[in-house]
Amino acid sequence: MSQRVLVTGGAGFLGSFLCEQLIQQGHDVLALDNLFTGNKRNIAHLLDNRNFEFIRHDVVEPILLEVDWIFNLACPASPVHYQYNPVKTIKTSILGAINMLGLAKRVKARILQASTSEIYGDPEVHPQTEDYWGSVNPIGPRSCYDEGKRVAETLMSDYRRQNGVDTRIIRIFNTYGPRMHPEDGRVVSNFIVAALRNEPLVLYGDGQQTRSFCYVSDLIEGILRMMQQENCPGPINLGNPGEFTIRELAEQVVELTNSRSQITYQPAREDDPGRRRPNIQLAREQLDWEPTVPLKEGLRHTIHYFDELLRNS
Ligand code: NAD
Ligand code: UDP
Repeated sequence: MSQRVLVTGGAGFLGSFLCEQLIQQGHDVLALDNLFTGNKRNIAHLLDNRNFEFIRHDVVEPILLEVDWIFNLACPASPVHYQYNPVKTIKTSILGAINMLGLAKRVKARILQASTSEIYGDPEVHPQTEDYWGSVNPIGPRSCYDEGKRVAETLMSDYRRQNGVDTRIIRIFNTYGPRMHPEDGRVVSNFIVAALRNEPLVLYGDGQQTRSFCYVSDLIEGILRMMQQENCPGPINLGNPGEFTIRELAEQVVELTNSRSQITYQPAREDDPGRRRPNIQLAREQLDWEPTVPLKEGLRHTIHYFDELLRNS
């Protein structure tokens, strides 16, 4: 059935792909974004579609709308961006969740919160299962993001218990693909852009820290399944269980781009998690979902995107 859908953060990397898929499925989509890290370019191809609308608005301010579904994605996701104005970041997560939950409660909409693997902090449990409560520094440079998302999860849970709001929580693990901002600061885009420019790839720390990288199309499919399911509050991990060291990622990117780049080292970032990998058993059971795009293939698509972007800029 066609729904009226609000996507906050709709002009961002994940949000723009989500809007695209929702329109393809016949929904009426409203993308809301303050364009902090998002860009109108990401949604330019949707602007002429009669089922698409864009509103420039900040989620820290309330808004009155009539919708059936809300995907709450508004929040900078790259450490470089979320640490640029940490107070604003935590306000975005907390006030944004309160405003969107208030809206959901008033119009009886279903609401999905984009949470993150960061809520597990530097995890003692590996791979991370949803019943693990995490090991998070409440006062460090990543706390504005981690703790903001943890409170957003709490708010979702309390509005569900207290007000019967139909909430969903997904915990997204590192996702990459075309439309990431070239200066985004996250590892995949940083490495690809550096390799294409034959500049050094900078590894923070010894490069032995691990991450699990999910290609964007896989993730969007998981998000949509979560929303379409009845009675599925989560939280559910969405990510690719393939685990790689950052050094391995750098080597793959250099190889796939035929780059002359060197791999260099800088001091580790404060509170950088040492390892990260999702256990996706719940997603398999409850959503019949698992990623299908291997890292090499996803990297090829992403390299192609950045290659074109850099040639035309
Ligand atoms: P992104 O930075 O490209 O997108 C975030 C969007 O939110 C941008 O368009 C930005 O302009 C918008 N935004 C930021 N603050 C806002 C505010 N106060 N009001 C309105 N809009 C605002 O990042 P992304 O990778 O697309 O991430 C989308 C969501 O997914 C975020 O909530 C992020 O925390 C979550 N997430 C992403 C990943 C990942 O690997 N990509 C991992 C875990 C969680
Ligand atoms: N990283 C790196 N070089 C870079 C960017 C990131 O070595 O140019 C490392 C970073 O220290 C972390 C991992 O890559 O260990 C993933 O970083 P990212 O910022 O992409 O996301 P995170 O998972 O830390 O939020």
